[in-house]
Amino acid sequence: MSETQPLSSEVLGLLEHKVRLIQADAGAIYLVGPIRLPVSLDGETITFQWYCWLDCSEVTDRLDHVIDKLSSVNLAEYQQSSVLVYGDFADADQAWIRFHSICHTGDIFGSKRCDCGYQLKQSMKTIAERGTGALFYLANQEGRGIGLFSKALAYLLQEKGYDTVDANLKLGFPDDVRNYGDAIRVLKVLRTKPVTVITNNPKKLEALKRAGMDIAGRLPLWGDLSEYNEHYLQTKIKRSGHMEPGCCNND
Ligand SMILES: [Zn+2]
Repeated sequence: MSETQPLSSEVLGLLEHKVRLIQADAGAIYLVGPIRLPVSLDGETITFQWYCWLDCSEVTDRLDHVIDKLSSVNLAEYQQSSVLVYGDFADADQAWIRFHSICHTGDIFGSKRCDCGYQLKQSMKTIAERGTGALFYLANQEGRGIGLFSKALAYLLQEKGYDTVDANLKLGFPDDVRNYGDAIRVLKVLRTKPVTVITNNPKKLEALKRAGMDIAGRLPLWGDLSEYNEHYLQTKIKRSGHMEPGCCNND
């Protein structure tokens, strides 16, 4: 095993201007980026600017102190969230954003039990086509915040006839335990001008409005309907208050 090395001033100098400290209610968020990220979308290479952030309970403006701790806190055991930014996100008059909750089965495996994989790719395409926007990939929101293992249990209950809301409730969780606070803090650092939100979920709009974001409108995101996710999507409309396809609320 190679020996670990102390942090050099050269390395610190290379990173320091790329990390921003954002004060949170409890602790701090360290936002690193932008990092150039060419992405393959439908065979075309689109270059996004990528940022990642880390929650810390201790607040320090010394980046060397933050970096010194990284190797001992085993961050791979926890999920960090990130955001893909496209175009002149800070200053363009219009920008489209999506808060996308991680879906291991849908985003990575292409599962058809939900519409997440479709929504992820479609929102990246929409943002690139329209010229400006940001896709927030929220890595601690698996299964509406219950975690991957619990989601696997919930899927088993769904196979026995429980819908996606009841399955979460039966396992002792609220239906939706997601919190958008950190993502909104990061968004406000990257843009303060109005945003159009790509979502079918009124709770995301409400969270953004409550946090004082200027919302220019909503862009619905439906598609990839199949026999495998029809019941799941209907449940989102009937029980989780999602807006139906074609119901565009641009107020
Ligand atoms: Zn999903």
